[in-house]
Amino acid sequence: MPNQETEVLVVGAGQAGIAMSEHLSLHGVSHLVVERDRIAERWRSWRWDSLVANGPAWHDRFPGQEFNIEPDGFATKDQVADYLVSYAEKIDAPIRTGVEVFSVRRHNGRAGFRAETSDGVIDARYVVAATGAFQKPIIPPVVPQSAGIHQLHSSAYRNPQQLPDGAVLVIGAGSSGVQIADELQQSGRQVYLAVGPHDRPPRRYRGRDFCWWLGVLGKWDASAPPRGAEHVTIAVSGAHGGHTVDFRSLAADGITLLGLAGGYDDGVMHFADDLRDNVAKGDANYLSMLDEADAYVARNGLDLPEEPEARILGPDPDCITNPILELDLRAAGVTSIIWAIGFSFDFGWLQVDAVDETGRPKHQRGVSSEPGVYFLGLPWQSRRGSSFIWGVWHDAKYLADQIAIQRSYLSYQPASQPITK
Ligand SMILES: Cc1cc2nc3c(=O)[nH]c(=O)nc-3n(C[C@H](O)[C@H](O)[C@H](O)COP(=O)(O)OP(=O)(O)OC[C@H]3O[C@@H](n4cnc5c(N)ncnc54)[C@H](O)[C@@H]3O)c2cc1C
Repeated sequence: MPNQETEVLVVGAGQAGIAMSEHLSLHGVSHLVVERDRIAERWRSWRWDSLVANGPAWHDRFPGQEFNIEPDGFATKDQVADYLVSYAEKIDAPIRTGVEVFSVRRHNGRAGFRAETSDGVIDARYVVAATGAFQKPIIPPVVPQSAGIHQLHSSAYRNPQQLPDGAVLVIGAGSSGVQIADELQQSGRQVYLAVGPHDRPPRRYRGRDFCWWLGVLGKWDASAPPRGAEHVTIAVSGAHGGHTVDFRSLAADGITLLGLAGGYDDGVMHFADDLRDNVAKGDANYLSMLDEADAYVARNGLDLPEEPEARILGPDPDCITNPILELDLRAAGVTSIIWAIGFSFDFGWLQVDAVDETGRPKHQRGVSSEPGVYFLGLPWQSRRGSSFIWGVWHDAKYLADQIAIQRSYLSYQPASQPITK
């Protein structure tokens, strides 16, 4: 089969690939988006059944199209996927699904790249890796298979019925861990939840959603996480119409909170003695957002209703004051562990000088260290909002500009040839 050619090859047709396609089209740059599964596959099959977007529909979207639901509502995972499919149709994105990229290598002696794909070879002048920030589910080798415990990653969790009978240990209390723990507890399971460092912004305060507050306070645009908070996860939820994640009320509902999960030894799981500290720091983050919001209201003379009750946190539950540091899993009836500790990168297919020895992209705002290769959808690629639906659109615009600038250099022709003797 002859090699296929395109000017820009975009790998991945999630929100990042679709946004990239829109901006390349606006620049009149020919391109092809290849996707190994379906458009927005991760929203279809890598999320649990009841997941809804963490941000309201007016916020978690591209600028050019609204959701078909009430703007303050939270789209279900399938509504998000359908939205992205209809957006791709609207912009007539040249997407080829069912095509996996196995490798991308630089051409020898000429510009551009050669992609080996399940649909043959594709030559491209530029390549955009839009394969997402959430690629390889992390399950650390802590609890051996021989322990006889069912272990899965949050991306493989679907619903409570999927798990064997018994108690569940959820490790990780970011948005996924807390929502899954809550759902399991509501279904009648005994649930243990290991809580590490986290931020937990108020879902709503003084009549505005936290997405609005992060916007007006300039926090979505922060270019890097605050110093020392690089590994702090964010615990928010759009479930049940959206509510603030509150570890005290999770404990009051019956969930046993634990500190950061450590090692496992002969049936016993160990936890750090840091639960009180982690919850206290989460509270401090929550309260500091209320303070910043109040200051913003005062400074701008806004008429937003006061909400002093938002500052009442209530007493610490017993599991915080007397933390469990060791849990005999069998004695506690734990038959499943759900690891909700995130994902790692997987750029093994990108065989160019754009990834460091630890597998992390080498880039500045998505422009990689390999000329002609770009990344899109990375966490904190240019700002806090980069890996979110609305944020990736702006990063895609920037990358399309960079590609257009490079093209203009390459199309340069001197107005007159120098006179040679
Ligand atoms: C549980 C969860 C909930 C989230 N909720 C929200 C939310 O409410 N709001 C929000 O804004 N963000 C949310 N996010 C963050 C983010 O919006 C999503 O992760 C989103 O899926 C990222 O889109 P993406 O296009 O960057 O990557 P992905 O959606 O991961 O798309 C990448 C695509 O690349 C394809 N691909 C990968 N490798 C190859 C290859 N070699 N060849 C061909 N194709 C390939 C994959 O099949 C995939 O379809 C959430 C993330 C998670 C994990």
